[in-house]
Amino acid sequence: MIQPPATLGLLGGGQLGRFFIKAAHELGYRVTVLDPDLDSPAGRIADTHLARPYDDPVALGLLAQSCAAVTTEFENVPAHALHYLATSVRVRPGAHAVAICQDRSAEKGFLKRNGFPHVPYADVRNEEDARKADADLFPGILKVARFGYDGKGQAWVKNRDEEQAAFRQFGCEPCVLEKVLTLDHEVSVVLARDEAGEVRCFPAAENRHRHGVLDISSVPPAPACLTANAERMAADIARTMDYVGVMAVEFFVVSGRLYVNEMAPRPHNSGHFTLDACVTDQFEQQVRALCGLPLGDTRLHSAATMVNLLGDLWYLGGPARVREPDWRTLLAVPNLKLHLYGKRHAKPGRKMGHFTVVGDDAVDVREAAMAGRRAIGMSDPVAVLP
Ligand code: ADP
Ligand code: MG
Repeated sequence: MIQPPATLGLLGGGQLGRFFIKAAHELGYRVTVLDPDLDSPAGRIADTHLARPYDDPVALGLLAQSCAAVTTEFENVPAHALHYLATSVRVRPGAHAVAICQDRSAEKGFLKRNGFPHVPYADVRNEEDARKADADLFPGILKVARFGYDGKGQAWVKNRDEEQAAFRQFGCEPCVLEKVLTLDHEVSVVLARDEAGEVRCFPAAENRHRHGVLDISSVPPAPACLTANAERMAADIARTMDYVGVMAVEFFVVSGRLYVNEMAPRPHNSGHFTLDACVTDQFEQQVRALCGLPLGDTRLHSAATMVNLLGDLWYLGGPARVREPDWRTLLAVPNLKLHLYGKRHAKPGRKMGHFTVVGDDAVDVREAAMAGRRAIGMSDPVAVLP
């Protein structure tokens, strides 16, 4: 067990890291962040910020030397950097799990080999794969295997011609081609697994996306009967991967059946409701799992709806007029918690913050969250999924 006030290492300086640091500080730990960005949300509140590339040997050496354990807040850390750190310091999740989750092709291969239900797909590694893609996979989505996020690096393709063109447009990088499914819902499960193999799932959330980016998450989700299954499957995935730490599993629900979409080797945007609606939040759980402390209680003490605040909101007056939204109208909504990540520049599509409305009744909470959105000029979420 790692006792406070030990120093914990964090790879990545985004908002997930910022929340990790707040949780670590709350438990008396110190945090060193490695992120090349000089002005990252987590770097700004870290005890120490190493503004160096993720594979910088000097920075990795410093982390290994000064930290009792290292974790990550984003999946695109080079796996070899994690391997290198693991030779001298505890790294959770391990390089093996991160390597699976950071590559869609490895991820789908893992799901397939281990019998988890997944979206029909094919690896597209070269022009020949692209030319020979199975006709059953159209209409499909071509997704770059690595470095895609928030719907980036994805192209909806109706046929092989469009698929080949998209493959070239992505620079002939390895991709996967997935069949487009008609989704009833999307749900996700955030869980933690400790060294001894104990798993604690947070309640499954129902998620809606807009243009491939998470828009809102609600708990408890409408299709309650599915959630036990989703939680069981997510826990099985973590066990099969011998995962230690916090992990998120995204699911599609199609005709009442669950399909695993993807996994994230870290806390997840759809788990932000845990900050305001659960006894332990996903970031405290990340600290606990990393330090070998007992995992916290994941019980939901309120219904909650979380709404993402994207940079677009700063441009409602037109592309030439960047202005801070009027938070007074939002903060006047009862039972609403606002979280802003302190990012200096708003850009369309960039996650700038989120708010969560909590309460006793899921329907009332959702309506209050919709009222909050409208109060700051946001439109309602898309009713029908893509
Ligand atoms: P990201 O890594 O950007 O989150 P995802 O693969 O999760 O990428 O895709 C983002 C969103 O796009 C999904 O949450 C879902 O709304 C939609 N989507 C992705 N793949 C499919 C699919 N095969 N069928 C239908 N919708 C999909
Ligand atoms: Mg996703």
